[in-house]
Amino acid sequence: MRILILGPQGSGKGTQAKRLADAHGIAHLATGDILREAVSARTELGVRVAPILERGDLVPDDLMIELIRQRLEVEDGFVLDGFPRTLPQAQALDVMLDEIGKPLDVVVLLEVRDEVAVSRLHGRAGEEGRADDSPEAIANRLRLYHELTEPVTQQYRAAGALVEVDGEKGIEEVAAQIEQALAGTRLGSG
Ligand code: AMP
Repeated sequence: MRILILGPQGSGKGTQAKRLADAHGIAHLATGDILREAVSARTELGVRVAPILERGDLVPDDLMIELIRQRLEVEDGFVLDGFPRTLPQAQALDVMLDEIGKPLDVVVLLEVRDEVAVSRLHGRAGEEGRADDSPEAIANRLRLYHELTEPVTQQYRAAGALVEVDGEKGIEEVAAQIEQALAGTRLGSG
């Protein structure tokens, strides 16, 4: 199964993606996690992207596209989390998945209002100590989500490929709604 999960930071996207990967025995491809690992390991990529992550800015599209291409090629089933974040990334994803013959089964959007996302992120800042959970970086990430990632969600919506789930509900309820959507697509595809 191949799932794309979209939503702003603080929507519970990472939590749901992890759960989906465990429940269905598929890979969790989280670009944020991959980048943070590179930063801690101080690889060439990590050194280059560390200041970008800290500001809450976006890593350049070409770099992200290459990074994710390598993972998509080796995984059969996956839940993609954190990519695509821009229209050029979405277009590249389309082409890549087409080339390797691995179409998505479902695209899920977790919706939360900004004020809910912000209050969840401020809470997480205390717990996890992420470098990009400063108030400035949080505001910047949400701004970029609206500006650059929302057009991606609109494109999937226009294509009729989007399942929209209320991300303000509790973890278990959101999980149940996503599973319902997956069951629907399996029935739909025979
Ligand atoms: P996340 O864990 O998904 O919130 O990602 C953390 C940070 O990694 C983001 O704020 C960006 O700086 C960077 N990042 C992750 N995925 C992407 C992407 N697809 N395009 C550009 N930057 C990304």
